[in-house]
Amino acid sequence: MDERPVSWWRELPGRNREEVTTVVLHATETPDLETARELAENGDRVCGHLYIDRDGGVHQFVPADRVAAHVRGHNSRSIGIELVNRGRYPDHFHSRFQVPDEEFPAAQVEALKMVLQGLRQEFPALRELVRHSDLDQALVTAADDAGRTVRRRIDPGPRFPWREVKAFWDQSTDASTSGSSPT
Ligand SMILES: [Zn+2]
Repeated sequence: MDERPVSWWRELPGRNREEVTTVVLHATETPDLETARELAENGDRVCGHLYIDRDGGVHQFVPADRVAAHVRGHNSRSIGIELVNRGRYPDHFHSRFQVPDEEFPAAQVEALKMVLQGLRQEFPALRELVRHSDLDQALVTAADDAGRTVRRRIDPGPRFPWREVKAFWDQSTDASTSGSSPT
């Protein structure tokens, strides 16, 4: 894993491992990892803990024992994982960009599974896997049409293989609650 946290990570509140119950999946909705890093570093300090690039590379932006701002109302107990994907880029709230068309490559999805498995072992209270779009269902006015609304957050989006990843997660939950050691 590439550990190059954002320069301001020490200003974030700390937490105990036992407080972390949830993983929230996101898409960066940027063209690439560099753009996501630039936004995290110089923007309004909204970012996830881990970023997974299209090639499966895993990059830490914020250590998991710090609270990061990645999902309204659920930050203190969750870890945010961001998958690099264009999503609705370049105009997130334009009515014409609401259906993302970029696939999530197999290398990226496999890396995500490995990350999830690792987090399970590191955070004993971790049990819930959700998408950002499950937690934030707010609507905003479309950028191009004041008479229409669009979702504030849709990520990771309809192209993300949610059923596959959720099945993987549930399977490892079963394994850990039945007492057998995860492999
Ligand atoms: Zn998100």
